[in-house]
Parts: sequence; structure tokens; C-alpha cells
Amino acid sequence: MKRFIEVMARDQAVLFPDHLEDFVGEDNPVRAVDAFVEALDLAELGFAGAADTGRPGYHPSVLLKIYIYGYLNRIHSSRRLECEAGRNVEVMWLTGRLAPDFKTIADFRRDNGSAIRKVCRQFVGLCRQIGLLSGGEVAIDGSKFKAVNNRDRNFTPAKMQRRMADIEASIDRYMSKLDAADRDEPALPPAKVDRLQERIVTLKAQMVELKAIERDMQKAPDKQISLTDPDARSMNYRGSGIVGYNIQTVVDTEHHLIVAHEVTTSGSDRSQLVEMSNVAREATGHDELRVIADRGYYSGEQLLECAQSGITTLVPKPLTSSGTKRGMFAKQDFTFDAENDLYICPAGETLTRGSHRSDRQGSINFYRNLMACATCRLKDRCTPLKQRRIRRWDHEDILDEVERRLDENPDAMRVRRSTVEHPFGTLKAWMGHTHFLTRTRPKVAAEMSLHILAYNLRRVLNIVGLGALMVALQSA
Ligand code: SF4
Repeated sequence: MKRFIEVMARDQAVLFPDHLEDFVGEDNPVRAVDAFVEALDLAELGFAGAADTGRPGYHPSVLLKIYIYGYLNRIHSSRRLECEAGRNVEVMWLTGRLAPDFKTIADFRRDNGSAIRKVCRQFVGLCRQIGLLSGGEVAIDGSKFKAVNNRDRNFTPAKMQRRMADIEASIDRYMSKLDAADRDEPALPPAKVDRLQERIVTLKAQMVELKAIERDMQKAPDKQISLTDPDARSMNYRGSGIVGYNIQTVVDTEHHLIVAHEVTTSGSDRSQLVEMSNVAREATGHDELRVIADRGYYSGEQLLECAQSGITTLVPKPLTSSGTKRGMFAKQDFTFDAENDLYICPAGETLTRGSHRSDRQGSINFYRNLMACATCRLKDRCTPLKQRRIRRWDHEDILDEVERRLDENPDAMRVRRSTVEHPFGTLKAWMGHTHFLTRTRPKVAAEMSLHILAYNLRRVLNIVGLGALMVALQSA
């Protein structure tokens, strides 16, 4: 007869170990959470209640440990953390068997956003101290994360127009049904007429509500309003729309640690390069930082500012011209001769400097050769106009330098992809492909910092191991 391992009877007396310590192995990552929080100066970081004033409550270190443990183990909700504090031996060990209720846990995250962000930065400082950020090269990328705000509770002028048009069309449809009911024989049953009238009343009330929202929307600087999370914004996401935040991260290319991050409400990455590079420079301690980013970050002014502050950038130029897509010559096909201040075109002709224009971005010169274009056999592939004009910004040499650097580093975009896309994938998988739990940008930023702290902690444990991390924490 087949035998199985026998279960233990539920009423059998058991001698559990006397100490909580015996439940937590020497190599348990929860020890890193404990040691890290114990090494922090919580009062200096600004945690409410860390200074010995006010009424007694849970020490912030207890609540911070619960949160770091929770995010490390993909438990983000305060209600679930409350449960874990009462049943999970690791959490009991971590908190000394304190079990705060969910409201206390949630309030802690809500009230200590800025301090939580500093804790995340402090961990990056520890990584730097261990020598994990010595490469001096980072990749920047942004990804859209859903806010708690439903798409139907976000309004832009276009959406508002569509919603109002739909309601008006529905009212017209019901009104014409009622008119037809008055005219036609046999008449509609009274119950059906009542239902139609009720629907019209409801739609008219919705229209009044929309008009009030529209008034508020017009007052917003970006003519957009979100009703659940006022800071969430409608953004393009994979060919569709999302109401959320654009999370910017800077990831070190050597160990794939997230060295800096920012929660932004702009759907575009175009103005983020300078700010994110500067934050990363401060976090890594490398004055001469090398930054890789995708085409979305390409902006002449941003690249110029980076170059002026000593940041080396590798950002490909976007191929936005419709002519290029149709096989026409792009600007890259024209070679600039700096010594003689002219361009050599694909037909081998020289384009010399002509007109000049200045705007807030600087001055722009136009290069052309009317005579050569008039008789050119390649003109069909070059321009539909009388002549091709090439514009050159007075800081164009910076852009040429970025292009040359990319040609010399053909692997740069592969390095960027393998560096920066993995953390986003991991973070979204850990979040369970759902939305943020908190509302408004400062609270979402605290939530994101906890996600990133957990990601970095897990990564450091994988790279150096618990022993080396504990030694670093003790000597910090
Ligand atoms: S059309 Fe003008 S600029 Fe273009 S290839 Fe011909 S000569 Fe050169």
C-alpha cells in the first residue's frame, strides 16, 4: 500500500521555539530590511513622530520596516500589510510583534512621502558606498503607469466634446421616439413612454454635470481635469490612451540599479534629459557622466545644456520627416564642411550659407545652391521645391558630436534597451499590472520610491549577497 507523509493533528501540543529569532534564518533578506532601517536617522530624514515629542504611537521605524518588507514581497496594500503583521513570522520578527492597524499603516505612507523618498535616495548612496555605481554610465527612460483615476473620469476638450455629442445624440433619439409615439397608432404603452422620459431627464442632468466639469477644465492650465486623482494626466500609451503618470528612471548600465527617478505628469520625455541627468550625476557622484537615452529625449536645447555641463549624451535623432520615410534624402545625407562653412549634398554639389533667422532657440542659417538644384538629376529624391535648403542651428556642432558618438558606439541602443527596460518590466510585474494605490503626485511619488527601494534592495542582495550588505550597513 502506498504511504504518504503524515499530517500533524490540529489539537496536538507543539513546542515552538522560544525566540522569534529562531524563525528567521541567518540568510533571510528581512535581516537586511531591519539593519537598513536601524541605520537610518529617521528624525533627520523628516519622519513624523521620529523626534520624541507628541503622544506615544508606533515608532516610524516599525512602520517603515513593514512597508519595505511589504514592497519587497509584493504586498502593497495597507489592509494586507495589517494581516501580515498579525500572521507572518518574518513581519513579527521585524516589528517585535507589533501589529498596527491598516489605517495607521496607510497614514504613515500618506504623511511621510518626502521622508520615504529620502530613504530611497539614501539606499542609492549606500550602493555608491559599496562601489556598485562606479561605471559612470547610465540609461534614462520613461514609462507610463496607471493612476487610480479611471479614463471616464478624466476630461480633455476633445473627450468632453465627444461625450457631449453622444449625450445630445441620445437625447435627440429619445425625443424623436416620443414624437413618433404621439403621432403613431397604436400609441406606445404608458410605461414605455415613462421610461423614455426618465432617460431624457437623466441625460439632461448628465449634460448639466458635464457643463460644470467643462468650466473647471477650462480653468486648468493644460485644459485637462481628472476627477479622482487631480494630478493624473491623459497620455499616449502604446497607440492607445492611459490616465496616469510618466515615471522617469535613470539606471546604471553596469549593475542595473535605479539611481534616480521622478514622477512626472508630462506625457513627453523631450524635456527630461537635463533634469534626470543632473539628478543622476548627484546620485552617482560622477561629474563626467555618460547618458544613453532613446529618440524621445532628442532636443537640441537639452543636448546643448548637457554638453555645457559636462554630461556626455548618446541620443539618436528622431526620423520624423515624412520625406525620409518615402525614401527622400534626409539631412544626415548632407555632409557639413566646417572649415569652408558649406554642405556637400548627395549629388556632390556645395550648398553655401544664405539667409539667416533668429528665434528664442538661437540663430539658424540656411544653406542652398539654386543653380545646382535647377539641373540636378537627383532632385526628385531631394525636394519638391525649386531648391533644397538645409538649416543649421548655431549649436549644430553639438548635435553632430552626439551623432558621431553614436556612430562610434553602435551598441549604445542595445545597452540602453537591456539596461532600462528590464526594471520597468519588473516593477510593473511586481505591481501586478495595476494602478497606483494613492492619489496626487506627492503620494504617488512616495509609493514609487517604495517600489524602487524594494527593487534596488533585491538587486543588491542578488549582486553582493546579504553578508556583504550587512557589513556595509554596519560600517555606514
Ligand atoms: S536637388 Fe540640389 S541639394 Fe538636392 S541633391 Fe540635387 S543639387 Fe543637391
